[in-house]
Amino acid sequence: MRFFKKSRCDICGKKFSKEEELMNHKQIIHGKDLQYDCRECNKYFQSMQEMRTHLQREHSYRKN
Ligand SMILES: [Zn+2]
Ligand SMILES: [Zn+2]
Repeated sequence: MRFFKKSRCDICGKKFSKEEELMNHKQIIHGKDLQYDCRECNKYFQSMQEMRTHLQREHSYRKN
């Protein structure tokens, strides 16, 4: 029995033989879109502005 781990990009569906390659691909190809994320609730945002608004509303985040 062969152990084959599926490494598929959930964003564009591209397949990779190694988990490492997938991680690399995600960072390079999709990294730009996934930069803005809330670490409190694991939400992703399209822009810095959206993330800021979220942080201010949901977490009373103050930027000084
Ligand atoms: Zn991809
Ligand atoms: Zn949040």
